[in-house]
Amino acid sequence: MRPLLPLLFVAACQTPPSPMPNHLPTAAADLHSAACPNEVRSTHLDLRLVLDFDAQRVTGTATHTIARAFDAAVFVVDTHGLEIQAVRDEAGNWLPHWFGPKDEHLGTPLRIGLRGATTKVAIDYRSAPDAEAMQWLHPEQTNGGKAPFLFTQGQAILTRTWIPLQDTPAVRITWTAEVAAPSGMVTVMSATERQQDGAVVRFVMDKPVPSYLIALACGDLERREIGPRCAVWAEPSTIELAAKELGDTEAMIAACEREFGPYRWGRYDVLVLPPSFPFGGMENPCLTFATPTILAGDRSLVSLIAHELAHSWSGNLVTNATWRDFWLNEGFTVYLENRIMATVFGDERAAMEQVLGMQELADELKELPAADQVLHIDLAGRNPDDGMTGVPYQKGAAFLRRLEQLVGRPALDAFLQAWFDQHAFQSVTTDTFLAFLDRELLSQHPEARSGIDVDRWVRGTGLPSDAPVPDSSLFTAVDTALQGWRQGTAAKELPTGGWVTQQWLRFLAGLGTPTAAQLQTLDQQFAFTRSGNSEILCSWLVLAVRADYRAVDRRLELFLMTVGRRKFLKPIYDALLAAPDGKARAMAIYQKARPRYHAVSQRTLDAMLGWTKS
Ligand SMILES: [Zn+2]
Repeated sequence: MRPLLPLLFVAACQTPPSPMPNHLPTAAADLHSAACPNEVRSTHLDLRLVLDFDAQRVTGTATHTIARAFDAAVFVVDTHGLEIQAVRDEAGNWLPHWFGPKDEHLGTPLRIGLRGATTKVAIDYRSAPDAEAMQWLHPEQTNGGKAPFLFTQGQAILTRTWIPLQDTPAVRITWTAEVAAPSGMVTVMSATERQQDGAVVRFVMDKPVPSYLIALACGDLERREIGPRCAVWAEPSTIELAAKELGDTEAMIAACEREFGPYRWGRYDVLVLPPSFPFGGMENPCLTFATPTILAGDRSLVSLIAHELAHSWSGNLVTNATWRDFWLNEGFTVYLENRIMATVFGDERAAMEQVLGMQELADELKELPAADQVLHIDLAGRNPDDGMTGVPYQKGAAFLRRLEQLVGRPALDAFLQAWFDQHAFQSVTTDTFLAFLDRELLSQHPEARSGIDVDRWVRGTGLPSDAPVPDSSLFTAVDTALQGWRQGTAAKELPTGGWVTQQWLRFLAGLGTPTAAQLQTLDQQFAFTRSGNSEILCSWLVLAVRADYRAVDRRLELFLMTVGRRKFLKPIYDALLAAPDGKARAMAIYQKARPRYHAVSQRTLDAMLGWTKS
């Protein structure tokens, strides 16, 4: 055995002492994890968990199967707020372990001394009641109101708040789990297999995935088949609507397979969560987690499902190795999402969504610091969450559309399919992609190579001048109506017949800064305050707050009290803060609503509102 002491206070990983066994590829260096996967790497994780809704804790054992370089003696896992009770090897022998220094964003690394032949490390632990990945909902925070609910959200670096593991997307593991929940509650996970055995449910993920894609939910859930390989899970009160709304899911999978290669995960199910879920969706493998705010009743907001599904190729199959490379996940996914939408819902719908996306990016770029406008962003010393702006999403997708313009769609599709095939179940860096791009695409299209400044796209700020400008003929009608409105045409005279959601969003975005009186006439005609479409309602509420149109107040408060999706909360609270008496209103609502939001949304809003717990 090698001495452990010299490593005690060393934060950085050592140079790999010897190569990893089993041809494990070298893992990229990740600033957001203390793990040293080129010394000792977890290859499989087995979880035995008990969900305690009263204490709001998960208690159990995480057993890692490890591979290690010949002379490596310390296994490092990330933890954040976990109570570690014991660490043992496969024979049940106690293993020495100690914590490294605590970091506000990264948590506390747990260092475990290994004996000569140790291949398994079992960690007994429990999570803290305020574990950021986990949201424990009281019954009244669910739609049904009868049972409590739990869901986890791992991306980016939150899995370490409920599982001790190497929490970096550079490391991929297979995993199994055995989860015990209170009787009558249904547990689901992002797994390839699920088997109910009395009160215990067993899960298997037989494909290597990064840690942020391990996810769990438990509550009063029902399941409804919607296709040969798709089902919806939701609360009983939502299941009917959800199953209807997501009826195009199989068509979406087939569309993506045709262009970009096979769907490799077996099933594709969707879990519709209670409204406090902080994101639109999360691409947990085999089981997308989605906000109920996409259930508009007319399938007008299901591009979100196309997006999460597309992650089954870009993100889950080929994964950003570090959070600096996040645009490889999101830019590719937005591009694929739009292609799926074009195939299933037609070019016009896809074009409108592209225009709206690029408009949002243009608005955001006006506010973003230059350093945050870069695809290959520098996140040193920051929370990876800070990089989750429109840049990796929309600018990343625009980069691929520019490449498509230059080489043609068939060549780009063949290139992307090769990218997914040759890097399947691998974690990749921006440099890996750029080398592949040059070798497999640009070198064969010299005119394209001279027509694009790749470095400017990937490492430059703003939007390059050669970014394709999408347009939509259906928006021409909206722009004409807007022009009429500006010149005094009455709301009831506006030619809005047959407009779809995207056209209404364009209309609301084009109103500029209307007065409260103007909003009142629009509201009388179009009943925006009563809209059941969350995107339309959110845009409307922002306009109303800015104009001090107080007829929305009750709806505004209800919306902020029930919906926890950060995309909606941010602009509404932002508008409140900018209003004359808005800060006091914002604080009064936030005080009541904050306990209902997930930690991800709380973090953003705490910073915006200057919230302190005292
Ligand atoms: Zn995404």
